[in-house]
Amino acid sequence: MHTLDLTGKTALVTGGTRGIGRAVVDALAGAGAKVAFTYRSSDAEADALVAALAERGTEALAFKGDAGDFAHAQTVVDEVVKAWGSLDIVVNNAGITKDNLMIRMSEDDWDAVIGTNLKSVFNFSKAAYRTMMKQRSGRIVNIASVVGVMGNAGQTNYAAAKAGIIGFSKSLAKELGSRGVTVNVVAPGYVETDMTATLSDAAREAMLGAVPLARPASAQDVAGAVLFLASDLAGYVTGHVLHVDGGLAM
Ligand code: NDP
Repeated sequence: MHTLDLTGKTALVTGGTRGIGRAVVDALAGAGAKVAFTYRSSDAEADALVAALAERGTEALAFKGDAGDFAHAQTVVDEVVKAWGSLDIVVNNAGITKDNLMIRMSEDDWDAVIGTNLKSVFNFSKAAYRTMMKQRSGRIVNIASVVGVMGNAGQTNYAAAKAGIIGFSKSLAKELGSRGVTVNVVAPGYVETDMTATLSDAAREAMLGAVPLARPASAQDVAGAVLFLASDLAGYVTGHVLHVDGGLAM
């Protein structure tokens, strides 16, 4: 019978120290997987997370580096495969915002968001796909955003990266389907994390006013969708964009 059980599986989550990534690490570990995660600068959070996972009996590995750097991605994947002998699940979650209206958006802000949010997805997928093809099984889950589907003034860089993730994922799903590897997207709406903590009350109210479920998502709401797509339950789902947005983008 198909279940959510991930006992014996190995997973890698980019940007696992905080917010959605942290909740995804917890969910995958809770389902029985060994979990590796990356982060950019939060050393204390990374150490605490590894310790918390060890305490509940989960094998965990933490890697510091820039997800936008291909060499880093290849090193991480090689280390995980060396340590655990397989890589079953990759969750491309690392992301940043550098919002500005086009007139004030700098080239650096464009490059930073495309590099961290979109190139990182290429990097870790490319680094992992040979291993997954050889295994003839694998799950790649990429975190996009409702903004990649609907657009948002002030976020041309972010929307381009997130829409790019959707096109990338559908294309890779077609390339890897016959090898037993699925590639799917989770597109969250408004989630309460550090990333959205800086929004003004007015921006927050405006966004929530358009959400049929009339509340923000928790990081755990998003992690549940990721867990489903990473599990046997979603074995016949690929190239799909799963909206976790309280109904915002229908
Ligand atoms: P947070 O800012 O709370 O956490 C971001 C995580 O990504 C941290 O672990 C951070 O590491 C890591 N990270 C950032 N840049 C890099 C990098 N260059 N290399 C490696 N790791 C990096 O973000 P959220 O949890 O809110 O967002 C997670 C994902 O979900 C992002 O892709 C975001 O675009 C997407 N999303 C979020 C929504 C929201 O409303 N919050 C809505 C829709 C999508 P460190 O701790 O070291 O900085």
